[in-house]
Amino acid sequence: MSMIEFKHVEKYYPNKFHALKDINLTIDKGEVVTIIGPSGSGKSTLLRTINGLESISQGQLLVNNMDLADKHTDINRLRKDVGMVFQHFNLYANKSVMDNITLGPRLVLKTSREEAEAEAHELLKTVGLADKADSYPSMLSGGQKQRIAIARSLAMHPKAILFDEPTSALDPETIGDVLAVMQQIATQGMTMVVVTHEMGFARHVGDRIVFMADGQILEDSRDVNGFFDN
Ligand code: ADP
Ligand code: ADP
Repeated sequence: MSMIEFKHVEKYYPNKFHALKDINLTIDKGEVVTIIGPSGSGKSTLLRTINGLESISQGQLLVNNMDLADKHTDINRLRKDVGMVFQHFNLYANKSVMDNITLGPRLVLKTSREEAEAEAHELLKTVGLADKADSYPSMLSGGQKQRIAIARSLAMHPKAILFDEPTSALDPETIGDVLAVMQQIATQGMTMVVVTHEMGFARHVGDRIVFMADGQILEDSRDVNGFFDN
């Protein structure tokens, strides 16, 4: 079953820059898709259209059966269903790790504080940071911050998670821990769209590689090993 479906999607920025050109892409439930390509090729733009951070100009985009070209589509529901992990974490600096993780569930899902905190403790174990509940983001390494950002995203019970260069801002020695958490989530069947330069991840964890250049998809391959061999 498809989770994300682009049909002839075009994106023009307000300055008329043509950022996405005739994008056709169907991503199934549980698929892990890696998006690669040169800087400025539209990878981040493509990702951001999926949860409505950027609007599309033309064509059709269906995400979890919601039509993003339809002005009546509930963007808040979309954002709840589709999590996003950013290059620079976007954690709330003045809130504890626990509050960072539980705020969304409590405010949006109306989960009780007790239940949200119990679940957050489980998620902290999942990302290997069980002892950091009371820490503040400034006390954590980049890799730890990113694992908290992933836990925060998972706390919303998303149907899919988008990752926009999740390891690009990290010190090399902390990248592996973040990739390991992403791999674990992938193994559990999450639909993931990942913009990354980590070819090891693309090859060993991803089901599929989409190569973009100049706003277009130039290649879309399920043969992730063959992709690198030629
Ligand atoms: P990538 O993620 O592959 O580096 P982006 O999607 O960030 O590429 O950007 C694609 C192109 O769109 C770039 O040329 C960028 O300068 C341009 N772009 C991005 N955001 C905007 C914007 N808000 N307005 C105009 N052009 C933009
Ligand atoms: P290639 O660069 O051609 O893919 P390798 O197969 O050696 O060559 O893998 C590249 C890198 O990916 C290696 O550094 C390897 O340690 C790393 N790697 C292997 N498995 C994983 C994984 N599950 N997630 C992320 N990186 C991985």
